[in-house]
Amino acid sequence: MSDSPKNNSPGKQCNICSGLSEQEYAYQKYGWEQDNSYLPVAASSLIIVRDFQPYSSRKLQLRQCPECGVYYLYRSDYEYLVNGSEDEEFLTRLNEEQAAEYLNRPMPES
Ligand SMILES: [Zn+2]
Repeated sequence: MSDSPKNNSPGKQCNICSGLSEQEYAYQKYGWEQDNSYLPVAASSLIIVRDFQPYSSRKLQLRQCPECGVYYLYRSDYEYLVNGSEDEEFLTRLNEEQAAEYLNRPMPES
């Protein structure tokens, strides 16, 4: 693994990114497992660079591909319902500008 992965060939995707679309969406509902969808396995290979809401059940994380250095924004939403809970996950590929914006965000005070 490289210390400073560079995204120097944006047209070509690495092994991990080729398994991810620009936008990924997954939805899980407790008790309705047959309808659930999940993010591609490649999503679990991404490294969490920033965790903006570490204490929240609704996540906002900046993630990075360890192979090519491309950044992704991971968001999750959680809804508690009487008949179960709903989880939504969003994974969006960021361009360099968008990623820089999140990298420059102040970290929440712990
Ligand atoms: Zn990649």
